[in-house]
Amino acid sequence: MLLSLIVPCCNEQEALPLFYKACTGVLNGMDCGYELILVNDGSTDGTLAVMKDLAGRDSHVVYLSLSRNFGKEAAMYAGFCNAKGDYVAVMDADLQDPPELLPRMLEKLQSGEYDCAAARRVSRDGEPRVRSWFARLFYKLINRISDTEVVDGARDFRLMKREMADAVVAMSEYNRFSKGMFGWVGFRTCWIPYENVERAAGKTKWSFWGLMKYAMDGVVSFSQAPLSFVSWAGFIMTAFAFFMLAFVVIRKLIFGDPVAGWASTMSVIIFVSGLQLFCLGVIGQYLAKTYLETKRRPHFIVSETNGDDVTKIK
Ligand code: UDP
Ligand code: MG
Repeated sequence: MLLSLIVPCCNEQEALPLFYKACTGVLNGMDCGYELILVNDGSTDGTLAVMKDLAGRDSHVVYLSLSRNFGKEAAMYAGFCNAKGDYVAVMDADLQDPPELLPRMLEKLQSGEYDCAAARRVSRDGEPRVRSWFARLFYKLINRISDTEVVDGARDFRLMKREMADAVVAMSEYNRFSKGMFGWVGFRTCWIPYENVERAAGKTKWSFWGLMKYAMDGVVSFSQAPLSFVSWAGFIMTAFAFFMLAFVVIRKLIFGDPVAGWASTMSVIIFVSGLQLFCLGVIGQYLAKTYLETKRRPHFIVSETNGDDVTKIK
């Protein structure tokens, strides 16, 4: 029985050695074989050197070095495409995902009751207040407007059976929002709650705007609600305009034409043009995603690896 552990790393030269130590400690105590798939996502520091060093000392380590920074989702996908294990796990390199949970996750899967065990943060301590507030708002919103459940506090840290990993590999969409994709593929998931842990070393790659963009991508990837909102807004505005028109014409026929109301006319024009631009923008978001999907560009390109028969481009 083999367990593949996928670790996307971007500029993690400080955290990676700590991570390696902690997680091999746990993995060696578990009675299963394992491979540690370290994906270097275009790091600009010494991360690759650290990976090579680890791979030289430990035959469990397979590193995949991407040709540039493709983003965490693509890095994870590269790992998924090359994981050989009967069980596949994803974990961050910064020790925010406690490796001690792995044996419990494996137990859950081996009991046969679940196909996937995932970690869920129950607290967000150590995170800026505004960030937590927006995160909560995002989860509320997306769960209301999407059919796919996105669990608040869910991390990408999870262990799954081969069947589920295959399903994730089969989802070859370009705009990958794994929190939604893991939900979309289904399977029986067991949630393991834990308290938030702060980064062991290094810095987070997320800026506030980066997160906002990620949230927008999530909405566009997993919901068509904004498009229906836009159609409804258009419909309601048109109906309203029709009654307004009728009112204005009838008033003109009965009372003649009092020339007044420049200000109100202007505000209506400005409001409606604003609304039109907004709606165009929403449609544009979907169009842009469609445009990218139709190009069918590869998700990742591996430029260096120590593994054999590695999928290098997909
Ligand atoms: N990461 C990556 N590519 C990126 C950004 C991040 O592979 O472009 C990795 C990073 O090295 C870490 C994980 O994704 O292992 C989570 O990143 P981070 O800790 O910055 O995110 P947070 O935990 O704050 O959500
Ligand atoms: Mg982190």
